[in-house]
Amino acid sequence: MFAPAPSERAYVPFVSVDNMMQLIHRIGIEPMLAGIAGYIEEDFRRWELFDKTPRVAAHSNEGVIELMPTSDGSTYGFKYVNGHPKNTKEGLQTVTAFGLLADVNTGYPVLLTEMTVLTALRTAATSAVVAKYLAPKGARTMAMIGNGAQSEFQAMAMKEICGIDNIRLYDIDPKATKKLMRNLEGRGVTMVAISSAEEAVQGADIITTCTADKQNATVLNDNMVGYGVHINAIGGDCPGKTELAGAILTRADVFVEYPPQTRIEGEIQQMPDDFPVIEMWKVITGQSEGRTSDRQITLFDGVGFATEDFSALRYIRDRLEGTGLYQDLDMLADPDDPRDLFGMVLRATPMKAGVE
Ligand code: NAD
Repeated sequence: MFAPAPSERAYVPFVSVDNMMQLIHRIGIEPMLAGIAGYIEEDFRRWELFDKTPRVAAHSNEGVIELMPTSDGSTYGFKYVNGHPKNTKEGLQTVTAFGLLADVNTGYPVLLTEMTVLTALRTAATSAVVAKYLAPKGARTMAMIGNGAQSEFQAMAMKEICGIDNIRLYDIDPKATKKLMRNLEGRGVTMVAISSAEEAVQGADIITTCTADKQNATVLNDNMVGYGVHINAIGGDCPGKTELAGAILTRADVFVEYPPQTRIEGEIQQMPDDFPVIEMWKVITGQSEGRTSDRQITLFDGVGFATEDFSALRYIRDRLEGTGLYQDLDMLADPDDPRDLFGMVLRATPMKAGVE
């Protein structure tokens, strides 16, 4: 155990899970969702600036671990995220994450943060930004299928940004639905627990599917989807992990984040490689049409893209100053003489073994 000389430390602000939760309480969940949504929309508008690549995935039988990098030319960001549907049975999260922002000019990190909670916020904010453009006018009712870790965030973002105040809930595990209802009590949404997905979608303007199952599941059948709805399909986000019957895709107009990634991971992995999709950034910038009729079925095949994490990281960086809600992390060796890395090691004061 060694203590480097204090002058030779370059600290990186680190936001722990505890501090992220404090920040949410300080800002408020709804304002924070709206704030992150604003950053996401802003980055969709400058889409062409970003370095883009499908995320780098390491698959195993039980799940996936992914790296999601991007850069706007002055700031670089990445997220580490996993997806392990079996985890909940073992008392673990399906999705956990952390992320980093760095200065492109120096390559030095400028922020390290937990991103498990932040991913839930950014995924919900993305869904709501998309629904703002695609959902039928005056939409107030959403069916929420899959009531796990992401679900309350989805509901709150749809309420705050799209005016959804009525939610029809279904999960194969009624305990998940009870948990959601308990968490959102008194938060301005009317909730109804429903015992089947078929019934839950009845009368819904927006259908959100947010289930976790490592298989080609059929959470929605073609005959469950009526004309005019907006489907926010976000649970299928990995090869071999989808939620919708293929026939729905052929009836709907399908909107995506970054086609090369969505063709690997999204619902459209079921379709031929040239299956037509519309890129959300083009809808947001007015270069492509979004919803064009009351009868159109719009489908957001959301898999989560690196720019959305980048937007969320930017939002956190811009909110941190003066909050004290971070720790300075000693994670960069930065000797006063940049070439004297060895000398810095020698100058570190050795402490006795066993002394903290
Ligand atoms: P979770 O495990 O906490 O919750 C999933 C819920 O789905 C559970 O309550 C489970 O009982 C329920 N479920 C499973 N199969 C079902 C079915 N056929 N019908 C109804 N309910 C069913 O997971 P989570 O963290 O809420 O994530 C949900 C999904 O969203 C995961 O697949 C995750 O990978 C994905 N996700 C996507 C994005 C994105 O950007 N698109 C971001 C985060 C998570």
